[in-house]
Amino acid sequence: MSDAKSRKMPLHTKILIGMAVGIVLGLLVGPNSMILPEEGTFSGEVFGQRLIDWTDWIGQLFLRLIKMVVVPLVFFSLVVGVASLGDFRKLGRIGGRTLGFFLGTTVAALVIGLTLANLVGPGKLVGEEDRAFLLSSYEESATDKINSAAAAPSFSEQLVGMVPTNPLTALSQGNMLQIITFALLLGIALTFLPGDRAQPVVDLFDRLNDAMVILVHMAMALAPYGVAALLFKVVGTTGFSVLLALGAYTLVVVAGLLIHLTLVYGSVVQFAVKLSFLKFLGALREPLLVAFSTSSSSATLPVTKEACEQNIRVSPQMTSFVLPIGATVNMDGTALYQGVAAVFIAQIYGMQLSLTDQLQVVLSATLASIGAAGVPGAGMITLVLVLTTIGVPAEGVALILGVDRLLDMFRTSVNVTGDSTATCLMAALEGEDLKILSDSEDMADPDHGFEGRLEGGPHPISTEPGLGD
Ligand code: ASP
Repeated sequence: MSDAKSRKMPLHTKILIGMAVGIVLGLLVGPNSMILPEEGTFSGEVFGQRLIDWTDWIGQLFLRLIKMVVVPLVFFSLVVGVASLGDFRKLGRIGGRTLGFFLGTTVAALVIGLTLANLVGPGKLVGEEDRAFLLSSYEESATDKINSAAAAPSFSEQLVGMVPTNPLTALSQGNMLQIITFALLLGIALTFLPGDRAQPVVDLFDRLNDAMVILVHMAMALAPYGVAALLFKVVGTTGFSVLLALGAYTLVVVAGLLIHLTLVYGSVVQFAVKLSFLKFLGALREPLLVAFSTSSSSATLPVTKEACEQNIRVSPQMTSFVLPIGATVNMDGTALYQGVAAVFIAQIYGMQLSLTDQLQVVLSATLASIGAAGVPGAGMITLVLVLTTIGVPAEGVALILGVDRLLDMFRTSVNVTGDSTATCLMAALEGEDLKILSDSEDMADPDHGFEGRLEGGPHPISTEPGLGD
């Protein structure tokens, strides 16, 4: 290894530094600053808000750059993956197992969330004054969420809606389930063409897919600055008073997520995939940091895919099939949080949820987490449906809105871990040889992992003279 390479700071360290800078600045000079005066030009409200306005574009630029890759990456990689799979029984088998795994872990997440919320009873710990403060402060945003939820399509509409009437519209609107359906069918259709006719299309899509991967690495070069700006905004705008009032609820959600992570994913990875769970989490550090900072499993998808392929050696066929479905429908973190939130809000309203109510929470939150898009705050909107099902006032979402963005970071990280766990499990069940890339291997080999992928610089492209004449 050259000296320069061994001295280079790894990407995840740079991202961690970016996160730390964002958090510290958010606490010190954000709108809810601990040190700025309460009034005047240099108050948190004026100066802190201005700082957020000035720096917001950095985070947005990073976010848009990785989001830009999601649709073409999913589309190209899925068509290539399915077309090169050849065996549709295998596709059906992996699909069935994947959905079974998603469903099983979602129900497990809900059981953990509901059990914890019932045991701790965080709603009983909120005083009358805090309750009034929360309801009045977040009333307006709560109404927005309730209105968005009312516009959400029903489950059967969503099912039929999976087939696009116009695939180009699906691609242009980024409708992930429709894109997945079209890509799957197009991949299958290609295999029915004679090999010499299908191959050029598959090759072209494959090359375009490779180019998308390079775009992911380019976007990731901006990640340290992007996450700093994103976290500065989140931390700066989350007030301490809200955190204090909702401390018990926040802790129950985070503890539930940790239990789900270690107990459910930990045992699957350790005993079924047969990889060290800690090393597995280490291999996912880039997507986990991006998921935490962006609160969007969809936006994180290109990074998750790259980490599973590069750092754990899952085949691209497997990642291109399981991960996009996971990022769209599998949200264990969201389901768990919805279970806790439903019990918490009911407790604050003095309502006792019966066992039947809680079973309804399991059912509706499973559907709600499937229906939630992988974008920030989506789980909060579908939570309204869960509350309505069990007759808890939907306005109750105002009670938890203040810490929602913060908790979204944790639940999105769990969602992304769940998708990656499923992908690795499916790969292991299909006999793939998984192996975690060590830091030194990553540093030494510019063609694998996250380090040095852009180091080779651009290659000049020679066009044949006379081409196109
Ligand atoms: N932000 C979550 C995700 O992207 C969804 C949610 O729970 O709001 O996975």
